[in-house]
Amino acid sequence: MPSDKPTDIESQQVTVLYRVGPSVAAKLAKIQITRVRDLLFHFPYRYQDRTRIFPLGSLQVGTSAVVAGRIQKVQVRSGYRRSLVVNIEDDTGLLTIRLFHFNNNQMEKLKNGAWLRCFGEVRIGHRCLEMIHPEYSVWQSEPPTDLESTLTPVYPLTEGIGQAFMRSLVQSALKTCNGRIKEWVPPEESSRLQLDPLDAALNRVHKPPKEQTLDKFELHKDEGFQRLIFEELLSHQVARRWLKQKRHKNYAAAMQPDGDLSQRLASSLSFEPTQAQRQVIRETIADMRQSTPMLRLIQGDVGSGKTLVAAAAAAWAVDSGYQVAIMAPTELLAEQHLQTFLEWFTPLEVKVVLLTGRLSANDQRNALADIRKGTAGIVVGTHALFQEAVKFKKLGFIVVDEQHRFGVSQRYALREKGMAGENVPHQLIMTATPIPRSLAMTFYADLDVSSIRELPPGRIPVHTSAVADNERHRVVQQVKETCSAGRQVYWVCPLIDKSDYFEVESAVEKEVEVRNALPDLRVGLLHGRIKSLERDKIMEKFRSGQIDILVATTVIEVGVDVPNANLMIIENAERLGLAQLHQLRGRVGRGTDQANCILLYRKPLSKIAEERLSTLLRTNDGFEIAETDMKLRGAGELLGTKQTGAQLFRIADLPRDMEFVEEVGKTADVIINRYPENIQPLIQRWLPAEGEYGDV
Ligand code: ADP
Ligand code: MG
Repeated sequence: MPSDKPTDIESQQVTVLYRVGPSVAAKLAKIQITRVRDLLFHFPYRYQDRTRIFPLGSLQVGTSAVVAGRIQKVQVRSGYRRSLVVNIEDDTGLLTIRLFHFNNNQMEKLKNGAWLRCFGEVRIGHRCLEMIHPEYSVWQSEPPTDLESTLTPVYPLTEGIGQAFMRSLVQSALKTCNGRIKEWVPPEESSRLQLDPLDAALNRVHKPPKEQTLDKFELHKDEGFQRLIFEELLSHQVARRWLKQKRHKNYAAAMQPDGDLSQRLASSLSFEPTQAQRQVIRETIADMRQSTPMLRLIQGDVGSGKTLVAAAAAAWAVDSGYQVAIMAPTELLAEQHLQTFLEWFTPLEVKVVLLTGRLSANDQRNALADIRKGTAGIVVGTHALFQEAVKFKKLGFIVVDEQHRFGVSQRYALREKGMAGENVPHQLIMTATPIPRSLAMTFYADLDVSSIRELPPGRIPVHTSAVADNERHRVVQQVKETCSAGRQVYWVCPLIDKSDYFEVESAVEKEVEVRNALPDLRVGLLHGRIKSLERDKIMEKFRSGQIDILVATTVIEVGVDVPNANLMIIENAERLGLAQLHQLRGRVGRGTDQANCILLYRKPLSKIAEERLSTLLRTNDGFEIAETDMKLRGAGELLGTKQTGAQLFRIADLPRDMEFVEEVGKTADVIINRYPENIQPLIQRWLPAEGEYGDV
């Protein structure tokens, strides 16, 4: 790899730097700083302005500043906590310096008439503003104004490395690399986009010119940061495309059936596929005819008919002589798919079998035998499909349904388990939670993405209303009407049990309350603590109409299909996320008549909660909702990386930096096509862990 050549200074171990021995290196390694470049790309999270002396009269609470003044009074205060209090003054005002730890030696020097120069955070004091334990120096006359010549960066630290030392390490890395930092953005792209040279950008962010304001740097708006953000987004995109390229070096079966199974499936349907479905089926089948493995993501709102796409592709694979595995996230959804596929494929004489962890030993044995012998054309199941014991005769195609948020490594792990001989199976991933385009371009750049932005005709959009808590009697009335018309109701609460900390409705209490308020109706309860077998029984009762009102937590979010339910009530809607609310709402409106969704909320609404609710009232379009969701929560939250603690970017931020994404894509193309030798160094620089991805 070019980046590992010893002439490449930024790839060398930090120990090449002055004053860095094994013990400092070990400390730095704890925050993933092992090479010189890791110091160059270790960015400040804050800056201080130590370039000028602020008049005491101009200080603002909460900011940090350099001040200078003549000592006017020195006192030891006893009381709750003994402290040394020094008042200083200049022509514009007064400031108190307070020290809780002090010794005689210090007191000796702090005398009336001497001068102090301090740097510290300004706080509200008893009489005037104060600084507690500032950095300070004592002078016999007015202190010189030989201050810092640049803004001072403040870095994330690790044990044993203080701020000043970290600063000197970064400066030393900059100095050592001076003029030798490699540009991996191709020159024609740099000039097309008028990018600053990388070393200029690094120098700016580590040594910002003094006339700049702090927020320009802290908010990453400075041109230096902009240059670096571009490169960071570029590295992510190049990494994903590189994965895609590696994938394309593998082989898959180029599927070209002799039979007419696809036509027979199409003509047996009781409905006409939508334009969007036809288009996505075409895209998918075009991939499956290639000898490179497909990895295609289908985004489509709840009810947009993704299952048909899977079925059409499955027919293509089966007719080409391959087996198909369809994986659902839960047993219940696997069984639901089984029903659909049995209905569609049994008349076509394709054997469909179920494989979940829940089958009896005998059924399991039979299913495994069908899979091994190849008599099962289509296998529907849960992750149990990927156990060692499952051996396919000729697996050619895998469908993964309702996979919400998954990382790159999971995507590939799944497929490797499905490896069949020399060939890699084609893979289709289906999700009902679309992500915004800019994110998809960055994070799904290793996938091909198809979207279904159209619902089958005749669907009536769910009518959504927001009802304040103190109006809830209206809701009870609507529940009565719905049930007396023979329809069913979901009633969702955020918590299972009552909480002492949050004033939030709980499912357990709600069930009792609903039973008491509506004694003639049959009420069921469903939440995450109920065992999955029991949960499915309750769901089955609801599906078959033996329960009128299902009180539940958000466990019902994914996939269940009960067309007769046409009222969804969501308690404390102000507490739930936008994507989640949209998914919950998608549980109703699956029949042919008007369905309703009521968002109950408690006042006062925060600005964000208000925005979420009004978005849901305004639109039923999952793609539009995803865009708003990203604006409200940020990309990290949306991709689920916040929960895992993994940081998405060092300095880039989506949606903030969305404007770059389009150009980043073009530059990534240029690198992949014309500068493949730049791929690895760029990934190594920004995403060292990613560069280690093994065989894909
Ligand atoms: P999802 O995208 O949420 O997985 P499904 O595939 O479960 O959606 O489809 C939802 C319902 O719509 C199913 O009952 C399915 O049979 C039906 N459906 C799918 N496509 C069409 C269509 N083109 N016209 C009418 N109904 C359709
Ligand atoms: Mg589905």
